[in-house]
This record gives sequence, structure tokens and C-alpha cells, in this order.
Amino acid sequence: MISKSINVHIYVTPVCNIRCKHCYYDAGVTEKREELLTIQQLRDIITELDADYDADFHMEGGELFLREDINELFETIPDDILKHITITTNGTIGLSKHKNYLKKINCLRISVCGHTDEMQKELRGIGLTKVLEVVRYAKEELLPVTLRMTLNKKYYRELLTASIQHYYEKEGIKKFSLYEFQPVGRGKEFEDEYMMDDEDCERVLQLIKDIQYRDIEIRISFSHKRIDVVKRCEKELLASGYEVIYLNPEESLTIDYDGMIGICPWNIDKKEIGRYTGDIKKVIKAFDLHHTCEYCSVIVVQKKKGEIEGAPEINV
Ligand code: SF4
Repeated sequence: MISKSINVHIYVTPVCNIRCKHCYYDAGVTEKREELLTIQQLRDIITELDADYDADFHMEGGELFLREDINELFETIPDDILKHITITTNGTIGLSKHKNYLKKINCLRISVCGHTDEMQKELRGIGLTKVLEVVRYAKEELLPVTLRMTLNKKYYRELLTASIQHYYEKEGIKKFSLYEFQPVGRGKEFEDEYMMDDEDCERVLQLIKDIQYRDIEIRISFSHKRIDVVKRCEKELLASGYEVIYLNPEESLTIDYDGMIGICPWNIDKKEIGRYTGDIKKVIKAFDLHHTCEYCSVIVVQKKKGEIEGAPEINV
């Protein structure tokens, strides 16, 4: 029997050491340790969901690597589950003590806002020095690294031209995942400054056609409100080696650090369906987990490597 697909977002801590303007989770600097789901509880949730579903786990925080006992979780998860896990980090914490399990996960996403200190400082409040050290370490150790960037009104042009070029040519990064800014969490305060409109998104789709590296992989996720724009550009995108994927609403589940369970990763408070008390299946069985909202990604425009014959390929 084919298992049902499910996207599971797990926030292992609400704590972060930086304060990005666009943080949809509105991560802060303090936590009450007694409120955290324990490592054993996190492990149980993951293994129980993996047994019943074709599950994609997205694990983050806050900053996931600030949780001091996080190794205990990943070092005891079997390899066949690790390969379904994506971890997102802000790149400010060294990865050397995590490298063994990081080699086995599906994807390690390191978030950056551009390739200059100026851009990174404006959006994330820190420079790039430490993040670049972590990116280089991940690359050297052959960790499955993807750079994650938030497309925003002010900097999307630079991100899609100079930043991608820089990270590809100078740092040898070949996988990029981009999401449009959403006015959620702390992002609400900065909507006027950073929220893109349809015209900006159309320009984004024009700009990506000019990225002509043969072995690059780029994935841009758009919310429902961009369907018309993407459809308008679809023919040209296909001709440029991109594919356009319209996602069917999948089952979705969000586990917060304190055991609160919701459906939508963007807005756990409003959609909470219960609290974890030792049996995840019991909590979710009465709910339809299919979900989409104005913030969730429903369209993916992506280029997989090898789509452009004759285009340059680098070996950094
Ligand atoms: S977006 Fe990520 S790195 Fe930035 S404050 Fe939020 S949790 Fe921290």
C-alpha cells in the first residue's frame, strides 16, 4: 500500500541568536526549558509519523543548533528516516559536531540574505563572515547544502543576479531555494518595505531565465496569489529549461517546541488542533490535515541540473 504524503514542520526551539526582520516564526531569545518537548518525545513523534506516512520532515527553530541536546535526537534516528529530514539553520553555529548525521539527511538549508554584509545586515542584523565559514565547512564536508534566500521587493534583483552568481562561482554552491517574503510574524511590520507585488514576481521569472549554469539547481516557491503571473510566464520558463509544478494540497502538520500541534506552518496559533501528550496519531486522527492558505507554497518553478546544453559548468 502506498502511504499518504505529509509535510511535517517541527520547531525544536523558539530561541534564535539573531532577529531577522522577516522571521515568520517571530523567534526570540529566551525559552523555558521545562516547556520544550524532550528528545524522546521528538523521536517518538518522528518515528510514529514515519511509520504511517510518506513523510517529509522540515526541522528548524528558532535556531535548531542552539538546542544543546539536538545531537541526541539525530544520532539515534535511523538512517532511513534521516534521509527524509531537511534541517534549516541560520549558519551562525559551527557544524563540526553535527557532521556525521548531517551527511545522511535529505537537505541542510543555510539561510542567507544576499552576498554582501550590507544586505545580510539589513535583513538579518549580522554580517556574513561566520555564515560563510559555515557554508565553506558544509561544502568541504560534502554536506547536502542548499542556500535558502527570501525574495523581497528591495533586493530580489541583486539576489537573482549578483548573489547567485557569487555563491555559485566563488563558493561552489549549486543548490538554491528561494521563497517570496510573506507578511507573517515579524514580517508583518515590514510589509510595505519588502513585500513583492505581481510585477516584481514577473520580473523574478524573467531574471531567472538568465541564470545559465548547467549544473545549478534553483527552486522558487510561490504562494497562491502568484498563479496568474506564473501561468503568464510558463511558456517562456519551459523554453528556458525550467519546470512549473502546481502542488496539490498535501496533508500538513506543524509541531511547535512546546508540543502544540497545528496544521499550517505559517500560523500555528490560529490553527492549533491540540497538544502532544504521548500519542501523535491520537491527536491528529480527528482532523483533515489537507491545507493551503495565502502564505503556503502552491507553485514551484525549478531548474534541475543539466537542463541547459552547452552552458558553463564549474568545479570549485
Ligand atoms: S528567520 Fe530563522 S534565523 Fe531569522 S530570526 Fe527567525 S528563526 Fe532566527
